[in-house]
Amino acid sequence: MIDAPVKNSKKLTEENPNFSLFNQLANYEHEQVVICSDPEVGLKAIIAIHNTTLGPALGGTRMWNYESEEAAIKDVLRLSRGMSYKAAISGLNLGGGKAVIIGDPHTEKTEALFRSFGRFVDGLGGRYITAEDVGMTEREMEWIYSETKYVTGIPKALGGSGNPSPVTAYGVYMGVKACAQKAYGSDSLEGKKIALQGAGNVASFFARHAAKEGAKLYICDIYEDKAKELAEEVGGELVDPDDIYGLDVDIYTPCALGGVINDDTMDQFKCDIIAGGANNVLDDEDKHGQQLLDKGIIYAPDYVINAGGLINIASELEGYNEDRALQNAGNIYNTITDILNYSEDHGIPAHVASNDLAEKRIKTIGHIKNKYSSKANVSGRLGEVYKRFID
Ligand code: NAD
Repeated sequence: MIDAPVKNSKKLTEENPNFSLFNQLANYEHEQVVICSDPEVGLKAIIAIHNTTLGPALGGTRMWNYESEEAAIKDVLRLSRGMSYKAAISGLNLGGGKAVIIGDPHTEKTEALFRSFGRFVDGLGGRYITAEDVGMTEREMEWIYSETKYVTGIPKALGGSGNPSPVTAYGVYMGVKACAQKAYGSDSLEGKKIALQGAGNVASFFARHAAKEGAKLYICDIYEDKAKELAEEVGGELVDPDDIYGLDVDIYTPCALGGVINDDTMDQFKCDIIAGGANNVLDDEDKHGQQLLDKGIIYAPDYVINAGGLINIASELEGYNEDRALQNAGNIYNTITDILNYSEDHGIPAHVASNDLAEKRIKTIGHIKNKYSSKANVSGRLGEVYKRFID
């Protein structure tokens, strides 16, 4: 079967004759990509393991109706690499991984499909540990969990960590305080005006922390009732979603959707700080990250300040304890401080500073792992496998 890999690779590149999977892996420096196929149950999945220097590759499984196999591969490579950076900068002993299941999350979910996928995850013996991501719900995660223990973010009733939002929001709150310290020489949010975009899970928990400290919140959501209810609870003011960017505030806290720092919004910002829980807020990382630096706006890189969710599920590996997860998320304050100082010292945008520091940590820890050591002392539900990979 010497020609089998060639056949597969041709099929995967049929949309673009110049697309090369191995070139992509080399460019992004991935360790391994696993293509999972089970036509009988309709499973087409790709698991990408980017880097396991620091520990097992952890990252969610996304189900999405990709327009092509190439698009799915590119997405899983990009996302898994992002997870390596996120874990590394957050001080976690985890590598980066991600999985995508190609299919319509509204019509193509079956128990057999997810259990089949769970078996593929299990076959990797803990090199990849999965979690919930876009297009997935608790029900599918439980199906996967019935075939493999290498799952995090499972319900509290099953020994997991449950809803990550309170921990994510606490990390965002501490990250915002670190930015305030940098901008104003004090991390107190008392009297600070904060424009809060979104009134969902993360935004609500964040608003309660900030309001308790005396911040004045301006809140919007595309569902006005939600925003109104939160504004009433925290003594904030309801604002129109279209007006949120141009408000005369100290801090803008995006907690809704991505791409909100873009060509249309850039000139509207009057704030000193942009720091919030939403993912992928820079529409064009390089261009808009540089523009924020040029405008003198302090920016907390999204993947760092919202790492509480990852920190929360990572705690499951050592035996979940919410207080410890919150304490670790609180360390986002120090991480953001380090990034802002590095960004200032080197005159580079904060997201570039963060990537640099993440790469440095992977390199340095990789170096010290060259030396013999006895096994690390880790217990908990996945303690045994965790031990194997972090040493
Ligand atoms: P959520 O769905 O509970 O809340 C999002 C809210 O944003 C919803 O109420 C929605 O109506 C609102 N919204 C959508 N578009 C909007 C717009 N244009 N203007 C104003 N409001 C709008 O989601 P969440 O769990 O709170 O997550 C919020 C963000 O944080 C997302 O980007 C998510 O990827 C990111 N994040 C969440 C976690 C977590 O632990 N939940 C972890 C890391 C990152």
